[in-house]
Amino acid sequence: MIPSSAPVAVPDSSAPFRDGRPHEECGVVGIWGADEAAALAALGLHALQHRGQEAAGIVSHSVEGFRQHKGLGLVGDVFNDPRVIASLPGRSAIGHNRYATTGATLLRNVQPLFAEFEFGGLAVAHNGNLTNAGTLRKVLVRRGCIFQSTTDSEVFVHLIAISLYETVLDRLIDAVKQVKGAYSLVALTSDMMIGLRDPLGVRPLILGRLPHSGAWVLASETCALDIMGAEFVRDVEPGEIVVIDDGGVRSIKPFSPVSPRFCVFEYIYFARPDSVLEGHPVYTARQKIGVELARESAVDADVIVPVPDSGVPAAMGFAMESGIPFEMGIIRNHYVGRTFIEPTDHIRHLGVRMKHSANRVVLEGKRVVLVDDSIVRGTTSRKIVDMVRAAGATEVHMRISSPPTRHPCFYGIDTPEESKLLAATHDLASMAEVIGVDSLAFISFDGLYRALGHEGRDAMAAGYCDACFTGDYPIELVDKEGRLVA
Ligand code: SF4
Repeated sequence: MIPSSAPVAVPDSSAPFRDGRPHEECGVVGIWGADEAAALAALGLHALQHRGQEAAGIVSHSVEGFRQHKGLGLVGDVFNDPRVIASLPGRSAIGHNRYATTGATLLRNVQPLFAEFEFGGLAVAHNGNLTNAGTLRKVLVRRGCIFQSTTDSEVFVHLIAISLYETVLDRLIDAVKQVKGAYSLVALTSDMMIGLRDPLGVRPLILGRLPHSGAWVLASETCALDIMGAEFVRDVEPGEIVVIDDGGVRSIKPFSPVSPRFCVFEYIYFARPDSVLEGHPVYTARQKIGVELARESAVDADVIVPVPDSGVPAAMGFAMESGIPFEMGIIRNHYVGRTFIEPTDHIRHLGVRMKHSANRVVLEGKRVVLVDDSIVRGTTSRKIVDMVRAAGATEVHMRISSPPTRHPCFYGIDTPEESKLLAATHDLASMAEVIGVDSLAFISFDGLYRALGHEGRDAMAAGYCDACFTGDYPIELVDKEGRLVA
């Protein structure tokens, strides 16, 4: 293995431009059978940058063995030197973007994780969160396993290492049968690439193919295929393991089938709008949510204004349904991000204005409907509302394209604890007061499900994970509830 890159300056994840929204933890990508596999993986990671901005890594394999490069920062920072990609030869590679929430943002926590086993090397990149990682970790440490990182993903590596099964596939199946939680995983050995999703398919994973070389691609979202010119083949199914080698793709289904519960927040906020997940274009889903929201919570107003960027398609749907003009009343500065380090309190307070500016020509003298995708703590919403009023809006109504976020996510999304969620501690009227709006409404559960093609939410068979709204956690929370594994 070549040494990993030196750590680069990286902002504190509690930095002021962290925007009070839930954050995706990770994006994964894998390439099998293409020249310059590492370069393609880096392109894929770039397209998946929205899923994790704290760190990135790639492990490639060639006749010379495995090579890796990992670093803290954006993909463009970590892989900006052409010599880095040149140091990752081979026709297979996997990569990972990380949004650090478990463990500190340390280089040793950056994935893909790599280990040498009796059967050879194995690299693993994981998106999601194991709900029994803490419990399993204690058991593994008691059995003598020495952990190198503080990420729960390393549990997979140790479970594979101590498995009594012979082949890497049998060991992996043995490992996934012991973990609980949400996981989409991409793994690489010298002779195969493996992709798998947890039995409920909470986190996405898709399979694609490059048209000329026939190389196979695994990625968290279809936008990663588009950037490298690959074609969409299919979603990896919930509970499915796909094994890719020079003979093609094999499918293994080691779990008894259960009703899938894909993360509904991927449609509302996390995924890139040009991605297609589980057969639904994310952009269209967001527009339809906006249409439902307008039907449910109409309001007399002069202009529909999205909170950019993720509120834009829902605001378009709201405007189409209501007949009220859509205008860009808030302009997002795309160049504010992660370059400011340790600003003063005064600058911190101004942070929201650095990211968003009110467009006075649209807002002055108008009754404004602001459309946003979620309210988490409410602090960002309050600042945006204040900014819109300061630009001359006469009324500000807020419409939210998700139901109220009342519960934390334990499946791989960074949300604050319950006591910090505004909707967990306030009713609708007091939320409106805190945010400073004339009226506030959220999409209903049924409206959300209607927008996704269902008749409504069936409490006995909800088609998605929606636990952060409903508290209906579809995968047991072993660590949280303090239960011991067998
Ligand atoms: Fe997605 Fe919410 Fe479920 Fe987490 S709890 S997986 S954010 S729907």
